[in-house]
Amino acid sequence: MHWADVLADELIKEDKKHVLATGITPSGPIHIGNMREILTTDAVFRCLLDKGVKGELIYVADDFDPLRKVYPYLSKSYEKYVGMPISDIPCPCGKHKSYADHFLISFLNSLKEIGVKPKIYRANEMYKKGEFNNAIQIALDNTEKIKDIIQKISKRELPKDWIPFNIRCEKCKKLTTAKAVLYDYPIVEYRCDCGYEGEVDIRKGGVGKLPWRVDWPARWKMFGITFEPFGKDLGTTGGARDTGVKIVEEIYGYPAPKYTVYEFIMLKGKGAMHSSKGTALSAEEMLKMTPPEVLRFLLMNNQPSKHLVFDSGLGLLNLVDEYDKEERVYFGKEEAIKGMKDLKKVYELSQPYDISKKIPLQLPYRHLVTLVQIEKKWSDIKKILLRTNQIPKDLSPEDDKHLKQRAEHVKYWLDNFAPDIVKFEVKRKMPKINISVAQKKFLSSLLKNITKKTWDAENIHNSIYDSTEEVKIPIKTGFNTIYQIILGQEKGPRAGYFLSNLDKDFVLERIKEAVK
Ligand SMILES: [Zn+2]
Ligand SMILES: [Zn+2]
Repeated sequence: MHWADVLADELIKEDKKHVLATGITPSGPIHIGNMREILTTDAVFRCLLDKGVKGELIYVADDFDPLRKVYPYLSKSYEKYVGMPISDIPCPCGKHKSYADHFLISFLNSLKEIGVKPKIYRANEMYKKGEFNNAIQIALDNTEKIKDIIQKISKRELPKDWIPFNIRCEKCKKLTTAKAVLYDYPIVEYRCDCGYEGEVDIRKGGVGKLPWRVDWPARWKMFGITFEPFGKDLGTTGGARDTGVKIVEEIYGYPAPKYTVYEFIMLKGKGAMHSSKGTALSAEEMLKMTPPEVLRFLLMNNQPSKHLVFDSGLGLLNLVDEYDKEERVYFGKEEAIKGMKDLKKVYELSQPYDISKKIPLQLPYRHLVTLVQIEKKWSDIKKILLRTNQIPKDLSPEDDKHLKQRAEHVKYWLDNFAPDIVKFEVKRKMPKINISVAQKKFLSSLLKNITKKTWDAENIHNSIYDSTEEVKIPIKTGFNTIYQIILGQEKGPRAGYFLSNLDKDFVLERIKEAVK
């Protein structure tokens, strides 16, 4: 059984409406690890609906969280905002309402593309509207108990004057520097490091925030959450999940939600993806270079607990090939191979939107990598595809859209992540070349061999072989000669296929010019 079905079955043992939650703090570029969290939850949610069970998928953006530090991708001017809620800090590019929106909006767009449609809640709005007030009062009334739980379970000593409430200083607007002096419902008196002394009324919204270890369980109760996965950093012994379970049960009187712990995703050659380090690959970028169904496939095809390495280099091409193969098997065009587990479910969960009734038109991804470097515009790429019979004349609008979308992903990948080895540029004028007499002979022979033949990949490929044999040069030298005269470089894409996509006359003229 697929892992998402196993988790869904676990949930429906309890006959009630299920609320599946994911919460991500948009304090920086939202990284691919977060994508795993949200897609894991989405998968369980879809399985629940499949089983005819009522459920809701929610996403709580903790945009009332304070900025922790000046991250490497921020300018020094952000120093003054450290400690302030990220919803109240200006956006780094100037185009968004706030710092939080700057990162959140692009992530929400990514979710749309990847087919995840949660109900969205923003913590800053909820706090400011007073929706946390009751949870705050309960926490403050149980200060000693909560302190005890956290100290015992996390084995961490809390300061004597600690209370489960971070006051937002009215003067400096920071959530991290005010210390409570006295709590007497509904007033909390405080003194801030900025020198300000004042008091807040907790019946008013937005005057402070529950600390993370209390905020999380309070949320479980408020939304009636029954399932929420979390990264392994929160699942450590004595971590936020452990204290959260105790707090939600003993203080808020609500059972802790079910969960699964997911592993991080590593970027090949770069280490774990943590947004706070600023080196992480953002979810948005990952989605720009990876077709959405393929990104989903990567996560659906692996248990959440499996450690994954995402290779933004050539590995990406292999991943797409793997997906395409899975698709052929799903539609009965090919036999399954060993290792294809839960194939039907994996394929279905990989679809951002509806599952196609018939197999989408497949074009080897590597071919697209070649084609988008020959022509820039999709309409021109399509002309090549039509001329070379790689797509039918009556291409369906769905297939057109699908291929175009893939071409866009390839382009982004080539511009930003692809290794040089796959990159090339067709030189419109003869580049500087350095070829021997033997190589010239090879080109003359090739010209003779292919002029009369039909211009297709196989004929070209065979002619190259024949001509290298005729003039007795290694096949490698033959290819190298072709790349030199067309691309001005030593290496290139598979020659037969590559040349077949170029205009025949253009290639023949170039060869003639080279042998002159
Ligand atoms: Zn912005
Ligand atoms: Zn202050």
